[in-house]
Amino acid sequence: MITRRHFLSNSALLLSFSFLPLSGVRASQIVAVRMWPAEEYTRLTIEHDQPIRFRYFVIRNQKPMQMAVDVQGILLTDHLIKMVEAIKPEDPYISKIKVAQNTANTIRISVVFKKDVDPQVFSLKPFGDYRYRLVFDIYPMEQQDPLMAIIQKEEKEKDVIGRLLEQVAEGQKRMEEHRMDSGRDAIGDLIAGITSGTAVPVKPTNVPKTSIENKKNTVTQTKKEPTKKTQPKTSSSRNLIIAIDPGHGGEDPGAIGRTYKTREKDVVLSISRILCQELNKLKGIKAVLTRNGDYFVSLNRRIMKARAAKADFFVSIHADAWINSKAKGSSVFCLNSRGKVSSQNKWLARNQNSADRIGGVNLRAQDVQIAKILMDMSFTAQIADSLEYGHIVLKEVARINQLHKQYVEQANFAVLKAPDIPSILVETAFLSNPREERNLRSSYFQKKMAQAIGNGILKAFNRKAVLKG
Ligand SMILES: [Zn+2]
Repeated sequence: MITRRHFLSNSALLLSFSFLPLSGVRASQIVAVRMWPAEEYTRLTIEHDQPIRFRYFVIRNQKPMQMAVDVQGILLTDHLIKMVEAIKPEDPYISKIKVAQNTANTIRISVVFKKDVDPQVFSLKPFGDYRYRLVFDIYPMEQQDPLMAIIQKEEKEKDVIGRLLEQVAEGQKRMEEHRMDSGRDAIGDLIAGITSGTAVPVKPTNVPKTSIENKKNTVTQTKKEPTKKTQPKTSSSRNLIIAIDPGHGGEDPGAIGRTYKTREKDVVLSISRILCQELNKLKGIKAVLTRNGDYFVSLNRRIMKARAAKADFFVSIHADAWINSKAKGSSVFCLNSRGKVSSQNKWLARNQNSADRIGGVNLRAQDVQIAKILMDMSFTAQIADSLEYGHIVLKEVARINQLHKQYVEQANFAVLKAPDIPSILVETAFLSNPREERNLRSSYFQKKMAQAIGNGILKAFNRKAVLKG
């Protein structure tokens, strides 16, 4: 593929976009200027009310490196200057931003960087609550985040598709091994469950007596690992890698609480961080986050990160919202097969899947091609495993919160579409319910929720360890 890196290689001055004709449009007003600094990449968004034309130059032979973005169709007003200059970038990559009149009908936004970067500038059409957006995504040349480093390296490889298919095959083999370790051959039953439209219902009253509270130690680790060399690896000896995906982020706030205007992206990040920390305390478990800050990560990239981590399991953490403030309780979702989906779950999926358009994704042809290839693969085994793991997680969540539905629900969530990684989405509670919004804001509930999800995962993979507050 043509990577951004190739595109910008070594040129001192590069014209990336030509001005397209734009007639009969009044000058655009700036609605907002936002900045989302993060190690992975920094985003600057300029929101405006009319279409504009732009082109950008990256000046690489200057130290520090600079970028100039020329924009036609925006008036240089005091308001705009103030907004741009008000940005005090406590940012790993941007040191200064200035805006000035360039030619009679062009303004120039100049960005001075702290180090060599790989910038992308693109525009987005109005979507949701947002008007037009001009977006600057500033990627580092050397990724600090290990998963992003893998992804960036892979994007540069010649045979991207071949490599992807290899990774998917490896993942499917891992899924198969976990299935064999657990000694279950219930896949046929589960598939039958999927086609009938319901997974196994959870009965909170049937929760086993070995509750978390009864355990004395924070971590109860299996003392003996199999010693015989000939013995096959079992799931309890194999390293278990969990990808934790905090929903939304950056331009995409997710649901907003009714009473306190709590943002979903914030509470799900807190819960995810706790879950990640707790799991990483355990031997033989490695947890990774797909987002560790307030910035936007596309749905596809979330899956790519899980795959780069060679994740055995993917859990996306969300908080629900519904028109009726009485709606309450936790839910666990997995992907649906082509069977029946309730209209509410269809609505939910549409809503969740619009995250890319709200967050603002710079979709490249290669991404579309890869998505199509993956979509044609079979999800049957992934769904069967996800239903089973999801059921165990739901049972654990039932200990600490009421359930919205007593069984694992299924919906067409784009973030769950990895044929090679069992994936679930947990709607922790309803931000639209005043009581649950209060819960979601409390660190006590956040911890309880993280532990319940973590304990579900540990049980699902036959681990003896238990998380306890
Ligand atoms: Zn969400």
